Amino acid sequence: MDKNVTIIDATQLSQVNPSLRDPVEYRKSGLSLNHIVGCPLDCSYCVRHLFGNFDQRKPQALMTDEQAFEQFISHRYFQPHITPIQLFNRATDPMLPEVKPHTHNLLRLLDLAGLTNNVLVITRWRVTSEDCKRFNALKNIKLTILVTYSGIDDPKVEPIKSSIAVNSLRLLFKHAQRYRTVLYWRPIVPGLNDSDQHIARAAQLAKHAHATVFSGLFYRKEIAQHYQSQGIPEPYTSTARRKLLPLEEEQRLLRIYQSQAPDTPIFRKTSCGVAYAHQQPDYNGHFGITELCSTCPSAQYSTCKTAWKKPDETLLSNLCRSLGAEGEPVITDRSIIVRGLDEQRRYFMQHTLGYQVHDADKPHHYDRHGRAEAQRNIL
Ligand code: SF4
Repeated sequence: MDKNVTIIDATQLSQVNPSLRDPVEYRKSGLSLNHIVGCPLDCSYCVRHLFGNFDQRKPQALMTDEQAFEQFISHRYFQPHITPIQLFNRATDPMLPEVKPHTHNLLRLLDLAGLTNNVLVITRWRVTSEDCKRFNALKNIKLTILVTYSGIDDPKVEPIKSSIAVNSLRLLFKHAQRYRTVLYWRPIVPGLNDSDQHIARAAQLAKHAHATVFSGLFYRKEIAQHYQSQGIPEPYTSTARRKLLPLEEEQRLLRIYQSQAPDTPIFRKTSCGVAYAHQQPDYNGHFGITELCSTCPSAQYSTCKTAWKKPDETLLSNLCRSLGAEGEPVITDRSIIVRGLDEQRRYFMQHTLGYQVHDADKPHHYDRHGRAEAQRNIL
């Protein structure tokens, strides 16, 4: 364990938000390992607001890397060579100076175990040539470094300069041999960072990435409360469970981006960008949600089409029963619809079958996948 991040004691652990105490959690793009908690970067829209952890600025470890690794690979939903893995994407940035040694150590442990899973590392912080060298030395895992870039220059919304992410992405792309790098263009907020000039800057930057993924703002109640308490203008009049980006905004953005960066495809979904970068089918089975594929290059589309199969009904029924679903699942051309399974079990099913799994009680509508509707405020 690196001496820069201390392991918290039992008394401190009891004060950690219960939802952060378990370091392994299934999130949308994969099984996520988060045994280091705390971040000084202060992005106003950070998901740590949801865990009541925003004020913890100093990263601390819940356990050693080796303990976390053991807990991760023995997790009931971890499948070697199948489960997509995410490191430190819930409560810290993996490339902060004191967190970085742990990121490299975890990558090394996963790689030494001979695992070939996709591993996603998302950062907005500094990456060095030495980091790139270490990423390239990994032999087994399929590593993607996603660099979060927004182009927002209001320090109240985002105190960290976007130039840091720009430099990291350029360096990562220049040195990439065994890993891939993605421009993670987010959050896009109407009126704040979606002007033609903002889009042109992102399109220029995309020339230094294997793929681009864009998304809107995750505007939950806790984040809205922070905006109100800090006097930050609220971009929307209501909050939502899914990310926000009005359809007409999306279409304009895509039109401008594609005319200026035709050689770097842009995707709506993280897993699609990762899939394209590694020339593999989308592990989240988004191919069934056909309207998501409108920006995808034809060779990648064929890769997904070949791999995408409706699951065998008996196999699916048995899996649903073993996970505790209510009633029988429904299989459509787009997704499997189940009832009574929480997110973790639905994502486990999704990655096992390579087919979207939706909750009957939270229906997805055509052309609204992962997109919430809300009225924007004029900023
Ligand atoms: S074909 Fe569709 S599902 Fe596959 S990577 Fe492209 S956008 Fe994603």
